[in-house]
Amino acid sequence: MQQVTLIKHPLIQHKLTLIRRADTSTAKFRALLKEVSLLLAYEVTRDLPLKSEVIQTPIAEMNAPVLAPEKKLVIISIQRAGQGILDGMLELMPTSRVGHIGLYRDPKTLIPIEYYFKVPGDIEKRDVLVVDPMLATGNTAVAAVERLKSSNPLSIKFVCLLAAPEGIEHFCQAHPEVPIFTAAIDEKLDENGYIIPGLGDAGDRMFGTK
Ligand code: URA
Repeated sequence: MQQVTLIKHPLIQHKLTLIRRADTSTAKFRALLKEVSLLLAYEVTRDLPLKSEVIQTPIAEMNAPVLAPEKKLVIISIQRAGQGILDGMLELMPTSRVGHIGLYRDPKTLIPIEYYFKVPGDIEKRDVLVVDPMLATGNTAVAAVERLKSSNPLSIKFVCLLAAPEGIEHFCQAHPEVPIFTAAIDEKLDENGYIIPGLGDAGDRMFGTK
């Protein structure tokens, strides 16, 4: 569990409870996911390096900290539910580059099938945040990170809202050097690969497709 960071900030926990509730509407779900993602981004980017820049305030000149420009991030959204986290993170880090990985779970085998892959051309010079609200079986996350590794980014972090112990174990075995950030670790998976107690199907709840 060394590579897992559980983000326990009270605002995140409160909003996560609202997100989980079955009576939370699609619009509210989307808005809350965006808010939580913004807060997750704050935690996940704690180690971004800074450099110093001389600026002029209305009063005096000073050496002020700014993000080191060579550390521009790429946020990679695993479609389709990753979009919700991506939207929140982009609000906080609007200059980030964006990539998309399209994977869907075969409903019978739960094996991920890739249908789309598009990442920035200079990804070798960038740090990557892979985002997907749910780390359930881990099949999709493991496959997405596997695929990304072939593009050789500087570093990879995986960010989700909820994780199941089974998914964490699978991910940690496949990618022991990739840190996981999550707002909760739930009890287990059901026989269909859904997280219990979870929040249901994140994509359906976000897009109102059920
Ligand atoms: N994906 C979801 O959207 N929900 C789950 O519980 C598991 C995987």
